[in-house]
Amino acid sequence: MQKVKLPLTVDPIRAAQKRSDYDGIITANLLERLAESTQSVNSDASVTLTFDIDNQRLVVLHGKASVSVDLECQRCGDAYTHSYEVEFFYSPLRNPEKADELPEAYEPIEIDENGEISLLQLIEDELMVALPQVAMHDEVDCKVSSDNLVFGEIPSADERPNPFAVLESLKHSNKE
Ligand SMILES: [Zn+2]
Repeated sequence: MQKVKLPLTVDPIRAAQKRSDYDGIITANLLERLAESTQSVNSDASVTLTFDIDNQRLVVLHGKASVSVDLECQRCGDAYTHSYEVEFFYSPLRNPEKADELPEAYEPIEIDENGEISLLQLIEDELMVALPQVAMHDEVDCKVSSDNLVFGEIPSADERPNPFAVLESLKHSNKE
């Protein structure tokens, strides 16, 4: 089944009043910032969105997005495919000063002067934030086994007494 393209902007208040649901895609070519942060974007982003008004009468947006990208493994240098999903809860606000009053579960997002929010920007931000800090293969898939890695390893301390310490004590005893 071919998925519909998501609108790039939406009026969240109207969408919430209509209890709108979206199930669609953002095509890979639009995810330019994500492409710059990765080796390549391999798939369109699949997105589901639900707009609602909660029992505190807040407009809320609950969504999930998934995508597949290529990343460069920081251990062996090869590219590998990373597929992942993000989930987010937003409350679109006309007045950003109200952000402090929001329940912690919701992130604020400002409604622009046209009464809209940018779905492309919101979803791309979420996908970028969720990229791994250090891209790495799963250990079993990586060319460099962790046994060969030395960084962060402190060689076990030598238990024998330091020969120089013995000399020091001899010197001191000779002086007396
Ligand atoms: Zn690797």
